[in-house]
Amino acid sequence: MTTTEPAIIAGSDVLIVIDVQNDFCPSGALPVPRGDEIVPIINRLATRFCHIVLTQDWHPAGHFSFASSHPGKKPFETIAAPYGLQVLWPDHCVQGTSGAAFHPALDVRHAALILRKGMDRAIDSYSAFYENDRTTPTGLTGYLRTRGLSRVFLAGLALDFCVRYSAEDAAREGFTVFVFDDACRGIDVDGSIAATRTSFAALGVNCRTAAALV
Ligand SMILES: [Zn+2]
Repeated sequence: MTTTEPAIIAGSDVLIVIDVQNDFCPSGALPVPRGDEIVPIINRLATRFCHIVLTQDWHPAGHFSFASSHPGKKPFETIAAPYGLQVLWPDHCVQGTSGAAFHPALDVRHAALILRKGMDRAIDSYSAFYENDRTTPTGLTGYLRTRGLSRVFLAGLALDFCVRYSAEDAAREGFTVFVFDDACRGIDVDGSIAATRTSFAALGVNCRTAAALV
């Protein structure tokens, strides 16, 4: 449930901005509807945090998650991967391309860490904490722990995939987790937004509005 109750931001809080990249915005290869609307909201939010991490989906060409890597398959179909069901996507966020770059209006210059994910050609990575095999860590938990950061606030794209998986993993890792609802946009593949809401409630992921904070 989303509440407008403002969260008081402390020095042990971190804002993790998930995948605000050109390919996930309306003119990109895998557009999240109205994905660009969150950029000014995140820019304002970021001024409230001392600690910020940006994530970047960062695939090699021919990545396993691309429908084009599987003859006869189309985007948004699924395939059985060794680690479970994998949604197939249009080619997106290929390393070094303009599509993989951050949205040009994203202005979070005091972010300490840019964490890239999805670089293993054979494994997708929605979460900022674990690749989709659910066992390969990105190292983010260690980074946050060693810096004494205990509350994780999330914003970005897409709510029902990379934000969702990141929030779930953060909660499982023992962090207190907040998602800024109005600073996220979703894709909604086969009811994935409703499933996200159910999962957040089950795991105790708190939803807030950025508007109440800034
Ligand atoms: Zn991807």
